[in-house]
Amino acid sequence: MEPRDLSAHTVYRAGRGIEEVARELGLDPDDMVKLASNENMYGPSPKAVEAIRDSAARMHSYPKASHADLAEALAERWDVTTEQVWLGNGGDGALDCLARAMLDPGQDVLVPSPGFAYYAMSARYHHGEVSEYALSKADDFAQTADTVLTDYDGERIVYLTSPHNPTGAEFTTEAVRTIAEETDEQTLVVVDEAYGEFTETPSKRPLLSERDDVALLRTFSKAYGLAGVRLGYAVVPEEWADAYARVNTPFSASELACRAGLAALEDDEHVEQSVETATWAREYIRGELAAHTWDGAGNFVLAEVGDASAVADAAQEAGVIVRDCSSFGLPECIRVTCGTREDTRRAVSVLNEVIEVVEA
Ligand SMILES: *Cc1c(COP(=O)(O)O)cnc(C)c1O
Repeated sequence: MEPRDLSAHTVYRAGRGIEEVARELGLDPDDMVKLASNENMYGPSPKAVEAIRDSAARMHSYPKASHADLAEALAERWDVTTEQVWLGNGGDGALDCLARAMLDPGQDVLVPSPGFAYYAMSARYHHGEVSEYALSKADDFAQTADTVLTDYDGERIVYLTSPHNPTGAEFTTEAVRTIAEETDEQTLVVVDEAYGEFTETPSKRPLLSERDDVALLRTFSKAYGLAGVRLGYAVVPEEWADAYARVNTPFSASELACRAGLAALEDDEHVEQSVETATWAREYIRGELAAHTWDGAGNFVLAEVGDASAVADAAQEAGVIVRDCSSFGLPECIRVTCGTREDTRRAVSVLNEVIEVVEA
C-alpha cells in the first residue's frame, strides 16, 4: 500500500539545533550560539519551569482543568469568551484547527511568499490548494491591502503575518480591515501575531469585535520562551467559535503545556525583559552588521549577505548558527534571531568576518 498522493506536500525545515550542529562539526555545544529559530534568548519563564516541575507527578491525568483554566485566563486577557480561545499544540496546531473548520476539499488558501511554510502545509493536509501573494523585495516587502488584494481570487482563507517572518514587515489595522472588507464574506482572514509581543503596533484584536471573518493567531513559543512545550492558540469571532469542539483533537494542549502557559502568563517580568533585550538586539544588529538589513518588528533581523548558504555554513563552523533563508525563497538572505547582549555581539562579530571572507 501507499499513502495518498503527497507530491505537492513539502517538509517543514526548522532551523538547526545546537546539538545536531555541534555533533556534526565536532564542536562543544556550550561554545555555540543558536540564533536560528527565533527562540527566546532567556529561555522559559522561571515560573513556567517551576509549574512544569510541580505538575510532573500529575501526568497520568488528562488536562481537563488546566485546559479550561488556560482558555479562561486567555479569554480574560483578550476580553473574549472562553469559546473564542482555540488552544493548540503550538500555534501550528491552532492553524490546523482553523483549516479543519474552514476548508472543504479542493478549496484554495492564499499565503504570503516569502512566508511561513506551515500555512500551506496545514491547508494541504486538510485537502486544500495553495495560491500565493507576492511580497516584493524591491518594495522592502511592504504589506498593504493592495499587496494581498492584487493576488486575491476568492480563496477561503487568507493568511497575514504581522510582524512578518522573516521580513519583520507589518500590516496596519486599517489594511487588515480593508482586506477583510474587500474579500468575500466567506473568506477568513487569519492574522498571525506570533511576534505580536515584540512590536509597538497594536494587535488586530479590535477587528474581531467588528466582524466575523478575522481570526488571530498567537503563540507561547517566542516571547514566552515555551517553544519546546508546543502551545499556541487562535482567537476567533464569537459567531462560529463553537466549531472548535467539532474539529479539535481531544486535549490538543497537554497538561504540561497548559500549566506552563498559565504560569508564563503571570510572569510579566520575563516577557518585558525578553522584549526589551530583543529591541536592543534588533537595533544593534541593524547598526553593526556589515550587510543590508530591513527595518521591522519581531525578535529577528533579515539581512542580505550575498550567498546566504555559504555565510550560514561558515558562521556555523565558527559556532554561530543563523537561518539561511533559501527555504523562504531568499537565497541571498539570512535571518538572525535577537540573542542576549553577549550572544548578539558575538554573532555580529563572527558574521562580519565571515561576510568579508565569503564576498572576497
Ligand atoms: C513561530 C511561528 C509560529 C508558531 O509557531 P509554534 O511554535 O507552532 O507556536 C506561527 N507563525 C509564525 C510566522 C512563526 O514564526
